[in-house]
Amino acid sequence: MVGLEDILAARDRIAGQVLETPVAQSIALGERAGVPVWLKLEHRQTTGAFKLRGATNAVMRLGRVAGVTTASTGNHGRALAHAARQAGTPAVICMSSLVPQNKLDAIRDLGAEARIVGDSQDDAFHEARRLKRDEGFALIPPFDHPDVIAGQGTLGLELLEQVPDAATVAIPLSGGGLLAGVAAALKARRPDIRIVGISMERGAAMAASLAAGHPVEVRELPTLADSLGGGIGLQNRLTFAMVRKLMDDLILLPEDDIAAGIRHLAAEGHVVEGAAAVGAGAILSGRLVSAGPVVLVVSGANIDPAAHAAILRGAP
Ligand SMILES: *Cc1c(COP(=O)(O)O)cnc(C)c1O
Repeated sequence: MVGLEDILAARDRIAGQVLETPVAQSIALGERAGVPVWLKLEHRQTTGAFKLRGATNAVMRLGRVAGVTTASTGNHGRALAHAARQAGTPAVICMSSLVPQNKLDAIRDLGAEARIVGDSQDDAFHEARRLKRDEGFALIPPFDHPDVIAGQGTLGLELLEQVPDAATVAIPLSGGGLLAGVAAALKARRPDIRIVGISMERGAAMAASLAAGHPVEVRELPTLADSLGGGIGLQNRLTFAMVRKLMDDLILLPEDDIAAGIRHLAAEGHVVEGAAAVGAGAILSGRLVSAGPVVLVVSGANIDPAAHAAILRGAP
């Protein structure tokens, strides 16, 4: 498991490469919850999501490599592309031909090679493994890696300095790198703090795995919280065990509540993607009832502007 020492070391290592993001109190959500509610505004992180913390820590820990690679086209792919460029390391982000052009452009704009292989995520992953095996690349996965988890944990250290009396921290949950790192940091400092994970109802792999007692695959379904989709890996090494140990509660959110969260945060001036709005959605729907102060981790900003506008208009 990843511990406080690893997270403190990560914080020193990545200082200057990632932003310390601010917190803001949400009066409206606080009134709804009946306790003070704070937002950790991590959607303002460079590349638009917390994933830069873990990717930067992982890249800075590498010895000599030919380059870095991954098969993620979302926030992790962007983060790794940026972290590699900062370190002067080549990055090859593998993706299938089904990836939309805007995601491909975002990776290229960050200076990485976007390599199109095959027409499934499996094909893309196969190429990333080949680069590791045959060409001396380091494969940096999006969550199940100790340096990635420690990097994400730096968000927890920051949050506790900003809201020292936090009683509950609500964290968007997919593969569990964010929750594992943040909860490890928080519980080391404040064992009584309550950690609530929030996923979407549709296709939450960690929730299904916890219920089964071991990592399982789930059918992926379209969701507004697209950054929370995908599996946790049947060979999961770290995040499944850490989430099982450190998370106190899990909330599964229907799509309507995610949309309500996006709309509410937009009204407070925060343009965020679905994954980042689950905390607000859980408070608005009355599903998150907990001791305060409550801190909601607002994890990312990368939403297609047209999709965001449609949600604000109330489109389903
Ligand atoms: C990756 C991601 C998450 C989930 O993080 P995990 O470490 O996979 O649990 C949440 N929100 C955003 C915006 C993300 O990009």
